[in-house]
This record gives sequence, structure tokens and C-alpha cells, in this order.
Amino acid sequence: AAVAESAEGLSLENWPALKPALPRDEKLEARIADLLSRMTLEEKVGQMMQAEIKSITPEEVKQYHIGSILNGGGTFPNNDKFATPDDWRKLADAYFAASMDTSDGGVAIPIIWGSDAVHGHNNVIGATLFPHNIGLGAARDPELIRRIGEATAREVAVTGVDWTFAPTIAVVRDDRWGRTFESYSEDPDIVAAYAREMIKGIQGDKNSEEFLDGRHLVSAAKHFVGDGGTTRGIDRGDTEVSEKELAEIHAAGYFTALESGVQSVMASFNSWNGKRLHGHKYLLTDVLKNRLGFDGFVVGDWNGHRFVEGCTVDSCAAAVNAGLDMFMITSEWKALLKNTIAQVRNGEIPESRIDDAVSRILRVKIRAGLFERDRPLAGKTGIMGSEEHRAIAREAVRKSLVLLKNNDQLLPVDARKNILVTGNGADSIAKQSGGWTISWQGTGNTAEDFPGATSIYTGIKQAVDAAGGTVVLSENGEVPQDAFGKGGKPDVAIVVYGEDPYAEWHGDLASIEYQLGSKEDQELLQKLQAQDIPVVSVFLSGRPLWVNKELNLSDAFVAAWLPGSEGAGVADVLLTDSEGNKRYDFTGRLSFSWPELVHQTVINRDDANYQPLFAYGYGLDYSSDAQLANNLNEDGESYVDGNLEDAWLMVSRPQAPWKLFIADGDQEPLWVSGNLARSDDNNITVASIDMLSQEDARALTWKGLRAGSVVLETRKPQDLSRYLDEGAALTMDIRVDQAPEAAVFAQITCEGPEC
Ligand code: BGC
Repeated sequence: AAVAESAEGLSLENWPALKPALPRDEKLEARIADLLSRMTLEEKVGQMMQAEIKSITPEEVKQYHIGSILNGGGTFPNNDKFATPDDWRKLADAYFAASMDTSDGGVAIPIIWGSDAVHGHNNVIGATLFPHNIGLGAARDPELIRRIGEATAREVAVTGVDWTFAPTIAVVRDDRWGRTFESYSEDPDIVAAYAREMIKGIQGDKNSEEFLDGRHLVSAAKHFVGDGGTTRGIDRGDTEVSEKELAEIHAAGYFTALESGVQSVMASFNSWNGKRLHGHKYLLTDVLKNRLGFDGFVVGDWNGHRFVEGCTVDSCAAAVNAGLDMFMITSEWKALLKNTIAQVRNGEIPESRIDDAVSRILRVKIRAGLFERDRPLAGKTGIMGSEEHRAIAREAVRKSLVLLKNNDQLLPVDARKNILVTGNGADSIAKQSGGWTISWQGTGNTAEDFPGATSIYTGIKQAVDAAGGTVVLSENGEVPQDAFGKGGKPDVAIVVYGEDPYAEWHGDLASIEYQLGSKEDQELLQKLQAQDIPVVSVFLSGRPLWVNKELNLSDAFVAAWLPGSEGAGVADVLLTDSEGNKRYDFTGRLSFSWPELVHQTVINRDDANYQPLFAYGYGLDYSSDAQLANNLNEDGESYVDGNLEDAWLMVSRPQAPWKLFIADGDQEPLWVSGNLARSDDNNITVASIDMLSQEDARALTWKGLRAGSVVLETRKPQDLSRYLDEGAALTMDIRVDQAPEAAVFAQITCEGPEC
């Protein structure tokens, strides 16, 4: 049922009352008032239009007093996708000059150009491409996020663009959504922490001189709100949640984004309980602007207003009245402009609403220094795709990798050995970069599209060459004749495969099963297995997928997400140096839960019956001695019967990821071989835990023992954390129900940011 504006049950009490991030500046407000007083209605409404560069010329910007432009994808008005950074800058100059040209009358108001720089300045050939947000979420490093924001802003500034439509601060609850990779986490806390830093990075610290100084640009937090919460993960669908859940989970990133002084917010395509966000006055005006103190402007999403009840693409008074300040509009901008002006004239839209919208736009333009044409980096060389930026991206790649399986400690691979690299993602920068890369759907794939980038294979080759090993790239997993010397055989195969690029609804899935190419990939893995070649799978994907079959066929399995242009970051972690020593360890931890069951579509750490294959926070490193069973079945079950030799256990609840090593009495972790088969009811009871009261100990139940993961459930989630300082360990005495002879000690190590 649609939520009426004044419907009962809505309450601002669900939202924190926030102060505007920046104090009111009387001089700035007077300047806005002065500009406004000199503008005609046509000029004002013109400010509220954002047209796509292929549908508007600089001449039209001047004639219609257009306030903003955007580029959807990397193609230029002449269809040139190979435009150089300098071509971008020249085009930006042309639009800017047109907006300031008052030879036909009117007030000079600089145009603002927005672009989707969502993982670096990804529409520009030669830009540094950072890992997509899902990989950054696994890195758990807000400070790194800030540096990425800053580097991205610098590359955007070089092209003369003023504004990036980033970050996406969706909290994704159903990974079938085609935009899951644009999200940092299923966890609102990570999203909130990252939103704060990414915006600081892009815009500069609001309390410093660097704020919007032209090296730091305008950011857009998107998509307000509930984009990651749609039913069945349908892009642009309906988010059917309570107001409390909307505020606490889906809006979590907005509170920190606003605190950081984000200057624009993009309205979302989705509905909330049946009502489209673009026409949602309660959320856009009462909540965002009034309750949360947002004094920047709300931009619509690509023709998103057309979904509002009673609207078409070229006419939508309801969106303006709801609080939309700027329309993102394609070829119909002229008709929309005309109709909006008429709607003000006939009283459908109060002029005061137009004045408010334009004041907000002017406020941001003044703050961003656009009137002064203060673009210190425009046209500068040596910044786009610079070594410094690529080093940050490579660091991000290293930190984003999550090691899910490493049986017999196959990784790290000794770079002095014979290494076969295969799989259709091994030498494909398009595939490792995903959607929103050069084109919207990320389909570019020629060397020309990615100058300066390094594929995963190239990164591996550099490492192997440096260490004196031999590496061979094979498309189909066949080993070319004598490639490893006469009769030589690879010591290991690194197989890179996964999802092909997609963006938005093109990536929506009906099931969480990895289907794309999976038959082909499985055959490749089987072929290698049949030759007794140990297999490392490097899985490229925009989300966790059900990959039990691929896991069974791999000795080691790395979730590499969509790492972007610096494939060498993968090799940094996977391969040793020339002495055979690891160079970097895995530090990435899942920021999304990994499914165990093929039909497990919605799986989040705070679900009542949480049973992932790899829990939120999971991630092995080189000191883990974990073994994952190779017989995960359709249901993901693979209980250990008989000996638990080499088994390890992971505890995935409550707040923090806990690792549990079974140890003997002297507390030195020692793998217990004993009969620890699960009891009939799947339960293993914790009898007593050092440092915990008996009562707390009884609140803990181990549920389901299987190699790879064990779920420790507690009715009192805070109980364990209370006893642990950072890095602390506690010892617990565990007696297994129905197998009292197998009493063991366990060591719990707390890991992750919560510890
Ligand atoms: C997307 C936005 C994006 C916009 C402009 C829309 O389809 O939803 O995230 O900023 O296009 O490219």
C-alpha cells in the first residue's frame, strides 16, 4: 500500500535530528539572494536541468541557461570514447564559457558537470581504476577509502569535471541486486564509516582549506534511500521495510555523509513501501532537508522522475514539489524545461519551491568556487593514472582479497616454480574491472581502452619473472608442448574466472548460483584436477555467489571481487618473492555473507537463522591452518564425520568474527584428532568458559559442526566482547555432548574491527 504523505505511522522520531554540517554563512546567503533577485523564472528553472552531453550543445546551455550537464558513459558528443583528458577539459571549458556568456542577457551562473567516477574516473581512458566498492568493503580500511576519494577527485579535476556521482552508500540486503558490487557492505556500520571518509576524500575536510578547493570536488551520496533493500533485489524496485529499518539500516551512510558535509544527494529510483523516492516529499523534504539538516541540493537519477505517479519524462511537478532540486534528464530536457516553467506559472509549483531549489544549487556552486572558475588541476598532466594513484589502487587490491579456502596451504605460490595461468578472466582488464568502466556496462576490452593497466596475468608474470620461475598463459588450460621445459609440468594452476561485466538491472539475478560460464569453468577445473595439478581459483565477481562446485574443485579459492586496473595487487599476495617467502598476507575479510545453499538468496549477519558458508567477517590468512571439505553438496552441508584432524572452526556470531582453534591443554594450538562428529541434534554444548560466568557459558550453543564453519550462537551477543581487549584471547573448555571423551580446549581469537 502506498504511504500517503501524512499517513499515520510515519514519525521523524525515527531519524536523528542533525545540524547542518556547515554553519550558515550570511555573506554567502546574501550573494545567493542577490543572484536570485536578478534571475528570470526561465533562468531559475534552467538551473534545475541537468542534461546529458550528447543531447545538449554549449550553445543551448547559453540559450536556455542550463544549470548542469552530465556524461553517461565515456562517449563524447562526436561518439569518441577515446577522448583524451585534454579533450574533456576543452569540452568542460566550452560548456563553462557558454554558461558564463551573458551576451544575450541573463545572469552568469557557472554550469556544473557531473560524472560517475565510482571506482576512479572510470569513464576516462587511462584513469586509475580502483576496486569496486564491494572489494573496498572487504579491506576494512576507512583511511584507505579517504585516500581513494582524494585520488579520484584529483583525476576528475584534471578533466575539468566538477562533481562525481559517488559514493553509492547502499546497504545491500539481497545480493541478487545487480548493483551489489557498488555497495561497501551488508553492514550499515561499514557503510557509515566509509561514507564519512570517502566524502572527506572527494570534497576535502569541511573544516579545512582543502574543502572544495578545486582539487577536492563535489560529491553525491546516492541513492537516497533504500536502494539496496528492494524486495528480491530488483533494481529500481520496492523497498518494503519499516521506517525504523529504513533509517537504521539503509540510511546509515547518510548520517555520516551529511556530517562530512556532502553537497549533493541523488534521489533513488526505488520506491519505499510503494511510493517512489523521486516524489517522496516526506523523505526528501521532511526527513533529508529538514530533520537531517541537508542544505545542499537533491539531484534526480536518470529520468527517474518519470516513475512518479502522474509524471512523464517531460513533466513532473510532483517531483519538484516533493523536494527534487535538479532533474537528471536526457533528450527531453527542452520539453521538461518548458513544462516546468508553465507549471510554476499556473500555480502547480509554488515559486518559493523553485527559489529554494535554485538557492541550494547556487549555494553548492559558490562553495565549490565555480564562479571563480577555480580549477587548479584542469588540464594538468602527470595526475591521470599516475604512479602514485596506481600504487593506492594496488594497495587496495591487496587489501580487498579474501582467502576463502587454502587447503594444505597451497598459497602462497612459490614464484620460483612452474605456474600455469588460465581462465577467461586471467588476461582481461574489462572482466577484472566490471561495470561502470569506460562504458556503462563495462564492455570495453581492448588494450587501447586500458593504457597503463595491468591484468592479473601480467601481474603474476612480473612476480614470476622477478623470482626466476616460469609462467605460461593458457586459454583453455592445456599446457603447450614443453612450455615448462621438456616433459615439465606446472606445479600449480592459477585459474581466473567469474562474472562478466554488468551494471544496474542488467546484473539482476533470479538465483544466487554462479551460472555464468560455470560449466566451462568447472570443466577447466576438472581438467586440471585430472592431471593432478593443484588449483588456485581467483574468482572475479560483484557479489558472493553460490560456488560450492567450484570450491570443491579448487585447492585454494580467493574472492578477488572486481579489482580494477591494478591486477598486480593480486600477484602481490598470491606469490612469493625470489626466496620463496610471502610478500603480503591476506587481510581482507568478508563484508558480505557468503551463501551456503543454492536457494539462500537473502543472507545477512543479523538474520534470525543465519547460516552462511562463510560468515560476515570471514577470511583466512597465511597463519590459518584451515581445511575446507571438498564435498560440499547442493545444500552446502559437509559435516565432518570421524576424525577432525586438521579441522578448524569458525564462530560467526555474535558481533565479531571469532576464530576458534582447537587446542590442547597447554593452550598451544594443536589440532585435535578425536571423534567430534556432531550430535544428533547438531548441538555441541559449551560446558564452561574461562572468564565467563557459568550462566554466560550456558548461553552459548555451538550449532552444526562442519569443516569450514561452525556457528556459535549466543543469546547475549555482547557477552564475549565484554571480556576481550584488542588482540586478546581467551581459553574455553568445551565438552561435546554425547561424546564426553572428546573434551577439548579451544582458543578463541577475536578478529576484525569490533575487537
Ligand atoms: C544510475 C546512477 C548514475 C546515473 C548517471 C543512473 O542510471 O542509477 O547511479 O549516477 O545513471 O549515469
